Amino acid sequence: MDGLSPQAEWLALGAMAAVFGLFAAVELARPARAAPKGQRWVTNLALFAIDTLAVRLLVPLLMVGAAALAAKEGWGLFNQLALPDWLAILLAIIALDLALYLQHWATHRVPLLWRLHKVHHSDPAFDVTTAARFHPFEIVLSMGYKMAVVVALGLPVLGVFLFELVFNIATLFTHANFALPRALERPVRALLVTPTMHRIHHSAKEREANSNYGTLLSGWDRLFRTYTGEAEGKLTIGLGEYQDQRPHKLGWSLLLPFRK
Ligand SMILES: [Zn+2]
Ligand SMILES: [Zn+2]
Repeated sequence: MDGLSPQAEWLALGAMAAVFGLFAAVELARPARAAPKGQRWVTNLALFAIDTLAVRLLVPLLMVGAAALAAKEGWGLFNQLALPDWLAILLAIIALDLALYLQHWATHRVPLLWRLHKVHHSDPAFDVTTAARFHPFEIVLSMGYKMAVVVALGLPVLGVFLFELVFNIATLFTHANFALPRALERPVRALLVTPTMHRIHHSAKEREANSNYGTLLSGWDRLFRTYTGEAEGKLTIGLGEYQDQRPHKLGWSLLLPFRK
């Protein structure tokens, strides 16, 4: 399989924008908790723009390009196996979701990585724009890691493309400032990470923040015993030391990893 057509990329981008708009509308209508907009939204969305630019300028190929290169050269595990396409695609999505669960765990456990990742956690509120709030260095590092996984496993182009689409939508969904209806929360969470589950990961309590690392499948947290089903007492979002307006500022957020 060769690379994908440029239309596919635009289609994915359009789908992402539509899903963002949908979740933003639902959370404006029925927010789970108060979330200030204004400067906070501008900063979170500006970080996303900077991240996108940085990763495009600094990293050649990106994930789909890495998959196409591995296919052409016959690199990686999957390119040695003759799996049916549907199975290779399904396994690629599951393998990448696991790889990102492990990466997320590491960003909380390795002090240097936590310096970058805590920009995401420093948001004192939680809504769909929190999904866009990452330090550009974390995004560039993460892209390098994901490409290494794609090449090492020789994952198929279509599987990688679909993973990125599904994973990005899951990232928007898990940060949405709404709760699923009670009757849906349990059955959905049996398979997928829900907003209510990921909101606990944004708790100011360390024990709760060091749990619920999953993004797409909820099973990894159960399997590796990092699952928290319910927040204990009142849930405070963000980091204890930054419960103020500072994280709303772009410059402050970009410099946060380099602060003592
Ligand atoms: Zn985290
Ligand atoms: Zn998050």
